Amino acid sequence: MNCSKCRREAIIHQRYSGMHLCSEHFTDSVESRVKREIRKHHWVEHGDTIGVALSGGKDSTSLLHFLIKTFGHRPDISIHAITIDEGIAGYRDLSETETITQHYGVPWHTASFAEEYGITLDGIVAGQKDDRRSCSFCGVLRRRLVNRIAREAGCTKLAFGFNLDDEAQSVMMNVLRGDTERLTMTQRENPGMIPRIRPFAVIPEREVALYAHLHVGSLADHGCPYAHNALRGDVRRLLNDYTWQHPATKFAIRALGEELQGRSTGPAITPEVCPECGEPAFGRCRTCAVLSEVKQDRKR
Ligand code: SF4
Repeated sequence: MNCSKCRREAIIHQRYSGMHLCSEHFTDSVESRVKREIRKHHWVEHGDTIGVALSGGKDSTSLLHFLIKTFGHRPDISIHAITIDEGIAGYRDLSETETITQHYGVPWHTASFAEEYGITLDGIVAGQKDDRRSCSFCGVLRRRLVNRIAREAGCTKLAFGFNLDDEAQSVMMNVLRGDTERLTMTQRENPGMIPRIRPFAVIPEREVALYAHLHVGSLADHGCPYAHNALRGDVRRLLNDYTWQHPATKFAIRALGEELQGRSTGPAITPEVCPECGEPAFGRCRTCAVLSEVKQDRKR
C-alpha cells in the first residue's frame, strides 16, 4: 500500500483518519499534532525550563526526543530529564536512562523512594496483605517527589509522556469509579507545584511506539511486576476492543474528559503547604497520609 500523501510505501494505516502514511508523513503527522496541542495550551513559553519525567520507556524517551528536536535550538528554553527510582526490583534500570540522557546531552536529576521516604515500593508492598494497592501508593509518592526535584532544578514546566490511550483510560477509570470530583476538577494552581504538560496526549499509544521505533531505536521494556493489579489494565483491554470497531473512540473519550474538566461547582480550595512535610498541597497532603498508613501497616 502506498502513502496517501506521496508514492512511497506506507508503514502505518491510521484507521481513525483513513490515511496510509509513509515514514516521513507519519512523522510529520505526529509532530504537527503535538505542536498544535502545545500551542493550544501555551504549554511551552519563552524562558521555560522543561523537566521531562524520563522513565526510559518509549513514551517519555520519544517525548524527550521530540522536545529536543523542536526546542533544543532555542537559547531561551532549557530541557532537563528527571528520573524517579521507585525501588521495584528488576524494573527500573537507571544505567539505561543515563545512556539516553547522555545521548541527548541534557542535565539529568534522579531521586529514589528509598532516599526520600526511607522505604522502597517493594518494601511498602511487603508490609501489605497483598500487592493490590501498589499503584496507588506508587502514584502518590512519585507525584510529590518528581515535583520537588523539578522545582529544585528550576523547572517551570514538568512534561509527562502520557499518550492518548493513557488519557482515555484515565477518563474511563474515573467514570467506572463514579468519581465525579476527578472528572470535573478544575486544574488548580499552587506556587510550589510545577505546571504539568502532556504533549503526546493526542497521539495513540501505537503511534508513539512507532515514532519511538523510527527515532529513538529499541528500548528495554522491563514491565512493572505490579502492573497486573491496575484497574488501568482492564480498562485498556476494554477500550482497545471497542476501538477496533470504532476507531475514533479514544479521541472522543479524551475530548469528553477535557469538556468535563473545570465544571466542578465545589468550594474553592486555597493552596497551602502540608504542615508535616512542607510541600505544596491542597488540603491534606496525600503523600504524608500514605506514609503514615504504610507505617501503621508495618507495625501490625
Ligand atoms: Fe508504579 Fe503501578 Fe506503574 Fe508499577 S505499574 S510503576 S507500581 S504505578
